[in-house]
Amino acid sequence: MLKEPESIEECVYFTRRLIGEGKVVAWVFKAKCKKCGEGLMGKPKDPKTGKPKIRATEYVCPSCGNVEEKKEYEERLTVNIKYKCPHCSFEGEIQIPFKRKKVSRINEETGKRESVDALRFQCNKCEKNIDITKKMK
Ligand SMILES: [Zn+2]
Ligand SMILES: [Zn+2]
Repeated sequence: MLKEPESIEECVYFTRRLIGEGKVVAWVFKAKCKKCGEGLMGKPKDPKTGKPKIRATEYVCPSCGNVEEKKEYEERLTVNIKYKCPHCSFEGEIQIPFKRKKVSRINEETGKRESVDALRFQCNKCEKNIDITKKMK
């Protein structure tokens, strides 16, 4: 069984999606600082509002102030996924590296093929691809 987060504060990423007949819940726990081994690396906070800066390209340790590049940090993280397969309705759990890939899909509004960033994994039963694409604005 995957460990589920108690609060969104523990995560660098959390999403809930409906994909056709299936659904996906995915989350990534914050990792500990490589330098001090104490703090959980998170997005830097805006000193004025106290809220994390979502678009920051780096993560900081709240304990020692160590800064890590977004890409480098995210590459050592794992995505935890609970899903109901949209292809075969199998319900399962899986862990994959937190690395987005370019996948091509049909845009439902325009009907055109487009390339989007997605976390892709395979269903444990039917082995078909399931994509968690970036949310469209
Ligand atoms: Zn630290
Ligand atoms: Zn399946």
